[in-house]
Amino acid sequence: MFISFEGIDGSGKSTQARRLVQALTAQGTEVLLTREPGGSEGAEEIRRLLVEGCGERWSPETELLLFTAARRDHVERLIQPALARGAWVVTDRFADSSRVYQGLARAELRQLVEELHRLTIGIEPDRTFIIDIDPAVALARGQARGGVEDRFETLGLGFQRKLREGFLALAAEAPGRIRVIDGNGSEDEVAARVLAALA
Ligand code: C5P
Repeated sequence: MFISFEGIDGSGKSTQARRLVQALTAQGTEVLLTREPGGSEGAEEIRRLLVEGCGERWSPETELLLFTAARRDHVERLIQPALARGAWVVTDRFADSSRVYQGLARAELRQLVEELHRLTIGIEPDRTFIIDIDPAVALARGQARGGVEDRFETLGLGFQRKLREGFLALAAEAPGRIRVIDGNGSEDEVAARVLAALA
């Protein structure tokens, strides 16, 4: 079983991915928690090129190629082998992040995203949870905790709104795979919604 978590910055998806892994492990399931960009040694190196570089370093096309290269390494080295031995994999972001960030919000490259995905990645999660939250709420949470403001400052609230709309549009395109989870409320409440949606 291959599960991805998606959402805007500060949505709580990373926390919820970790919570789901804890719940599954407690049930005796072998489950691997991973993330993108990154997840494998090579992909983590590419992550540094992407995340630590300044925003204007790469053209949108080059950025997409780097994200795709990182994903290919992640799939080859970590995801496929784990699934092949019967383990579950939970990833914090996967291809839907590229569909939305590179395909829609940063540049309109959706067609190229899909073609590269088909040619070089080929797999989709069995289930995707989009942790859905109003960007203003995500920003307020981030300010309380100290964390996501930098990205909101750099990218702007309007950018996060565009991302949210992109994720919701994807959910409408693939209702069998993608479930939208209300990200409002306490960590426990959201975790219970994820478990209910998985059952
Ligand atoms: O999920 P996480 O906070 O680790 O993601 C790091 C950053 O990478 C995000 O803030 C997002 O701006 C960026 N990202 C991206 N395209 C992706 C995945 C992540 O631009 N496909």
